[in-house]
Amino acid sequence: MPKQEFDVLIVGSGHSGGMAAQVLTQKGISCLMLDAGPEVNLATNRVSKNPWELPYRGMNKPGRLPHVVQANEFNANQWVDEKEIPYTHDPASPYNWVRVRMLGGRSLFWGRQSFRMSDWEFKSLDKEGVGDNWPISHADLDPFYSKVEGIFRVSGRKEGKAHFPDGNFLDADYGPDSTTVKKITEIAQGRGYLVSKIRASNGRNGQASSVNLLLPEAMATGKLQIVPNAIVRELTVDKNTGKVNGANFLDRHSKQELHVKARVVVLAAGSLESVRLLMNSGLANSSGMLGRYIIDQLYGVQVVASVPEARGGSAAEGLMGGTALLPRFRNLQKGEKNNFSKGYGMMIASGGAAQPGFFADYGESLQKKLDFHSGACMTASIYGERLPRFENHVRINKLVKDAWGIPVLHAEVKDSANEHNMAKDAADTAEDMLKAAGWDILSKTDKFHPPGYSIHEVGGARMGDDPKKSVLNKWNQSHDVKNLFQVDGGCFVTCGWQNTTLTMMALAMRSAEYLAEQMKTGVI
Ligand SMILES: Cc1cc2nc3c(=O)[nH]c(=O)nc-3n(C[C@H](O)[C@H](O)[C@H](O)COP(=O)(O)OP(=O)(O)OC[C@H]3O[C@@H](n4cnc5c(N)ncnc54)[C@H](O)[C@@H]3O)c2cc1C
Repeated sequence: MPKQEFDVLIVGSGHSGGMAAQVLTQKGISCLMLDAGPEVNLATNRVSKNPWELPYRGMNKPGRLPHVVQANEFNANQWVDEKEIPYTHDPASPYNWVRVRMLGGRSLFWGRQSFRMSDWEFKSLDKEGVGDNWPISHADLDPFYSKVEGIFRVSGRKEGKAHFPDGNFLDADYGPDSTTVKKITEIAQGRGYLVSKIRASNGRNGQASSVNLLLPEAMATGKLQIVPNAIVRELTVDKNTGKVNGANFLDRHSKQELHVKARVVVLAAGSLESVRLLMNSGLANSSGMLGRYIIDQLYGVQVVASVPEARGGSAAEGLMGGTALLPRFRNLQKGEKNNFSKGYGMMIASGGAAQPGFFADYGESLQKKLDFHSGACMTASIYGERLPRFENHVRINKLVKDAWGIPVLHAEVKDSANEHNMAKDAADTAEDMLKAAGWDILSKTDKFHPPGYSIHEVGGARMGDDPKKSVLNKWNQSHDVKNLFQVDGGCFVTCGWQNTTLTMMALAMRSAEYLAEQMKTGVI
């Protein structure tokens, strides 16, 4: 690598780092991007195998990825190896930290659901008296959401509702709803709930990643250098100015340490990895808030019903199939009384299969039941919003180091009565609606997965106007170190029920545009 000083060092190449790189390089700013993971070629690195060719028949190898419930033998190599890069938590309060270390990060594998957040999330304190307000509103982010939706080619149905803001959508042709989706829609609307459709990033050529939508544009400017397999260990500081001036990083294979110089550093290593890096560098924490207010969404609550007319393969054409999305409907009205704050969205899918765990059977009689209900199931799944709480935090565990000798994170994140009450309400509401449609409940659970499971971990470096209560300002810039930015989900003040990535990218774009302007005018 040439011994030059870059304008900007970007750490991480996922949705957030890719977005920052695209904006900055298109404005003529030279960037170096370091990513801890290797470059992958999805066309050649993926090999299809049959379950019987695999030692665990496709199930996850026991003990390898204990916190990654999503892992199985088919996709095991896409996740961070927890033996190589561990983290710790109290066994009584598990945290599921799901990580990807590859060029492109999680953008290679995400589910692409792409929702805006609304002022019920950005102005949570004003609207509902819980959490805190962000220093920005939906109106501030609106133009950036629109641009990101254009790049990622987001499709969706416009609804004209402030709590579920519309975007710059490609037309979405959903076709006619099936009879069961129409029925549940009528029931939900009868209770005053909005019923909409999934909004998703279509991307290009079957991919909606940083690698195909953001980094090629940045590379085309001639202003971006990308170095994979470069694990940033700590940021370095100019002792005279207190500003960051680069980073020490390790080659993933040789473990050799190198230094790179830069005028500005933009962190985009994923919310918790960026926080870990700041903590290991001893930076940006005059507020004491670094690592605090870790949040993500509550997943796992689910109710499944069986439609009598569809059992035994007897569904008439048009009865089953399709989905309905109920954006958050709880606590939107002033004075609404529930035993929890905030709310949840609900996805209802028609035409699925029953799971073996629904029945107290085994062998032939279990198989008969699975076959009987196959294709006849209506599944309601919940996307709940967890509350941001000061006590929920990560810190450095100096006693444990990763394979490169870098101290790891300890996570202390617990749920409160609010999450449990919300989960119960969600399961009861789903059950009630499915029963009202005349369908038989096969399974109902108000149990939910541990924090982290939704893979939407945010917070830890929250933004705010008050440097005593926040780590970043409204431009994702460190209050303490003016040439240091963090553009991933670390800045989130509330997490919403909505999948978080569209908001991360809009924030990263807004921050990068601000940074470019500050560099142009010589302020930074
Ligand atoms: C299976 C799955 C489904 C998902 N579905 C959805 C969905 O439907 N909708 C949605 O909104 N979100 C979804 N998400 C979440 C979404 O993928 C993330 O919110 C988003 O990709 C985060 O982007 P990021 O750039 O902040 O972080 P990442 O994508 O994690 O990128 C961080 C990068 O930083 C690198 N890095 C980490 N540490 C270092 C270091 N010390 N030095 C150098 N580099 C480092 C990593 O290698 C990585 O490439 C899903 C995620 C997964 C895995």
